[in-house]
Amino acid sequence: MNHSVTNPLDRARDLVDAADRIVVFTGAGMSAESGIATFRDALTGMWENHDPMVLASPDGWDADRDMVWAWYRERAAQVRSTEPNAGHLAIARLADEKAVGGGSVQVVTQNVDDLHERAGSTVDAHLHGGLFAPRCEACDRPEPPDVALVAPRPDCPVCGASIRPGVVWFGEMLPATDWQRADEATRTCDLMLVVGTSGVVYPAAELPERAYRAGTPIIEVNPDVSALTRLATVPLVGSAAELLPALAER
Ligand code: NAD
Ligand code: ZN
Repeated sequence: MNHSVTNPLDRARDLVDAADRIVVFTGAGMSAESGIATFRDALTGMWENHDPMVLASPDGWDADRDMVWAWYRERAAQVRSTEPNAGHLAIARLADEKAVGGGSVQVVTQNVDDLHERAGSTVDAHLHGGLFAPRCEACDRPEPPDVALVAPRPDCPVCGASIRPGVVWFGEMLPATDWQRADEATRTCDLMLVVGTSGVVYPAAELPERAYRAGTPIIEVNPDVSALTRLATVPLVGSAAELLPALAER
């Protein structure tokens, strides 16, 4: 009897085995089992009455830089207190294995945490920027990662304008280089693994759609149905920390 015909995990493993160029496209669910609060879940305690649109928009920043800086400083400190989960580690391990055979695993993430990097992955694209990529709001000069944890809100040592969080806010352009790399990786991959994203944030969600239109097989890892489930060649129902090790283990 051939289990691979009926068992989704086996079918997905066959796809992973056969692929030479894998793109892993991740969202907030990737880091859920590391204990990183979603945006909304983090609106507790002193932040309870704050509006996410204010905390994640250029207008909110203009209105109260100190408050918005303090919010991202807390997010950065929270991320520092967490560790990559078994899913992040499995992706890094899979990349090492594929590299041996001349293949590759490229990580394209919507997450602003650094857990892929801390698990040993090279991230090809941080589509929504990063908590540890603070920069000057005026001259764009990048600051070292730990400046994200500084209080009070620091000013640019060169031009004196304010340092801002390195995340992409609503209405802002995605970082051009990251977007180009993500687009290129999507066009040249032979398998896309979509992990822990609701698939409703654009233009990021266009990437799996482009892969789908190109006929590239897609594996989704998500405990729930997402806007991208309909695109998946093999939808795997479950969590990143459970399923990714099972998918990558040989
Ligand atoms: P989302 O919150 O819209 O969707 C999360 C998805 O993950 C859902 O489909 C959910 O079913 C799934 N999920 C939940 N637990 C999971 C698990 N254990 N394993 C696998 N999947 C799981 O997240 P999004 O699609 O990334 O979009 C939200 C935006 O918020 C993004 O732009 C992102 O930049 C930002 N964000 C980032 C972080 C982070 O960096 N860790 C956290 C929160 C929000
Ligand atoms: Zn400056």
